[in-house]
Amino acid sequence: MDVRSQISILFHLDKCIGCHTCSIACKNLWTDRKGAEYMWWNNVETKPGTGFPHRWENQEDYKGGWVKEGNSIDLKGAGKFRGLKNIFHNPNLPIIDDYYEPWTYKYEDLFNAPEGNDQPVAQPISQITGKAIEIKSGPNWDDDLGGSPLYARKDPNLEKLNAQEQEDLFKVEKLVMMYLPRICNHCLNPSCVASCPSGAIYKRGEDGIVLINQEKCRGWRMCVTGCPYKKVFYNWSTGKSEKCLLCYPRIEAGEIPACMHSCVGRIRYLGVLLYDADKMKDVVHLDEDQLVEAQRDMILDPRDPKVIYEARKNGIHDSVIESAQKSPVFRFVKEWKMGLPLHPEYRTLPMLFYVPPLLPILGKMNLDVYDTSCADYFSTIDKARLPVKYLASLFTAGNEGMVREVLKKMMAVRIYRRSETVGDIQGAEMALKEAGLTRAVAEDIYTLTALATLEDRFVIPPSHREEALAMEGMELVKPGDLGFGFRDRPERM
Ligand code: SF4
Ligand code: SF4
Repeated sequence: MDVRSQISILFHLDKCIGCHTCSIACKNLWTDRKGAEYMWWNNVETKPGTGFPHRWENQEDYKGGWVKEGNSIDLKGAGKFRGLKNIFHNPNLPIIDDYYEPWTYKYEDLFNAPEGNDQPVAQPISQITGKAIEIKSGPNWDDDLGGSPLYARKDPNLEKLNAQEQEDLFKVEKLVMMYLPRICNHCLNPSCVASCPSGAIYKRGEDGIVLINQEKCRGWRMCVTGCPYKKVFYNWSTGKSEKCLLCYPRIEAGEIPACMHSCVGRIRYLGVLLYDADKMKDVVHLDEDQLVEAQRDMILDPRDPKVIYEARKNGIHDSVIESAQKSPVFRFVKEWKMGLPLHPEYRTLPMLFYVPPLLPILGKMNLDVYDTSCADYFSTIDKARLPVKYLASLFTAGNEGMVREVLKKMMAVRIYRRSETVGDIQGAEMALKEAGLTRAVAEDIYTLTALATLEDRFVIPPSHREEALAMEGMELVKPGDLGFGFRDRPERM
C-alpha cells in the first residue's frame, strides 16, 4: 500500500443555480490580466449544451486524455512521438473562435456622448485587437438554452441517445437543462502533465494540486491538447500556459478557494482523500464501465489503523490524516457512493466529483387535476426529463446502473425528509431500504447536503509547506519539477 494524500473537491449539482458567481470570483482574482482575458479557469455550462470551449467533450477533434490500446494506455493526441511530430504545428488545439473573442466596452462613450433623446451605449471593443467588434459568442453563450437546436443539439453526449430519445428531449413540454460548473480536476493521472515536453507541469507531492512552472514552460501547448477537459489555457501575451491552481496560496493560508467560498448555492465541498497509489496502474487500464468503481476503491478509509500506519510511514502528517477523517468529500464519494467523476473514460482519474442532479420528471394531469401523488417515486427516475443515459454519458462512462443508484439515494432522502416534516407520504422506510440507506445515514446525507456550515463543507488540511520545502533537494518532487508525490520519507520527519 502506497498511501498519498490529495485535496479533492465535490460539486453537488442538485444545488447549483447557474449564477456564475464562482466564475466571476475566479476571474477577478486570477485571469483579469493581459493575455488571460479569454480564460475561465472556472466556468459554468448549461447541459445539454456545447460548453466552453465549444464541444470540448469531442475528443475525436481535440484528442485529449488517454486511450486504451490493447493492454496499455497512451495519450490520444500528445505523447512522445506524436508530440514531437507536432511540436511546431499542433493541429489538435482549440482556436480562439472555439473559446470566444474577449471584449470590453468603450465606457467613455457613456460619459462623452452628446446630449440627446437616446440613452448612450458603450461599444464593444475586442481585447485582442483593440478594434470595435460585433459580439458573436461568449464563454457562456448557450447559458440556459437547454432546448436550443443551435447549442443543445450539438452536445456530444447526445450521441449516446437514439434518434427517438433525442427527439423526445427537444419536445417543448420536455425541455430541460442542468448546470455543470467546471474547474481543473487536479487528476491523479493527469494527461496534461504527461503531455508536456518541457516537464513544466507537475503534481505537488504534498496535496496533489497540479501546477505549471512558468519559468520552465516553453509554450508548446501540448498540455492544452492533452487535457481532455480543456482546462489548460495559453496566454498569448506571456507565451506560457496557465491553469486553475486551486487557489493554492489561499489553501496554504487555510483559506477556501475563491470560487468555492463565493458559491451562492453552497454546492461546493473540499477535503483531503487518502488513496493507494499502488493501485493506479491497474485502475487506468480497466474497461470503461469498471473505472468509477475502481477509482472509488483506490480511496482509503482514513480511520483504518493500517491506512494510518502506512500514511505516517509515507510522511503524511497526522494533522492531514485528521483532516482526511473529517473530509466531506470522503463521505459523499466513498461512504455514500454519491460522488461521480466527470467523464471517467478519459482515464485521467479526476479528483473533482459530482453528485448528479435529481432532475424534474414530466408532470401529468389526472382528471384535470395536476397529479401530485407520491406513489412509485423510484420509477420516476427513469421518467426524468433528462434521460439517465445522458447522465451516465457524463459521469459513469455509460454505466446507467451507477447513476440510478445515486438518484435512488437522493430520492429516498427526499421521501424520508418529507415524511418527517410534512408527513403526507407513506413508505419512507421502504424507500430507504430500497436505496440501501438507514435513517441515520439519510439524516447525515440531508444534513451535509442542506444544513452544512462553512466548516463542514471545507476541511482544509494544514499545508506543512516546511516539509515540502525540506524535500526540495529530492529528485522529481521539488516544486517546479515533474513529480508524483513522495518517493522517500522527507528528511525532517
Ligand atoms: S483536468 Fe487539470 S489535472 Fe486533469 S488533465 Fe486537465 S489540466 Fe490536467
Ligand atoms: S456560484 Fe455555485 S451555485 Fe452559482 S453557478 Fe457557481 S457553482 Fe453554481
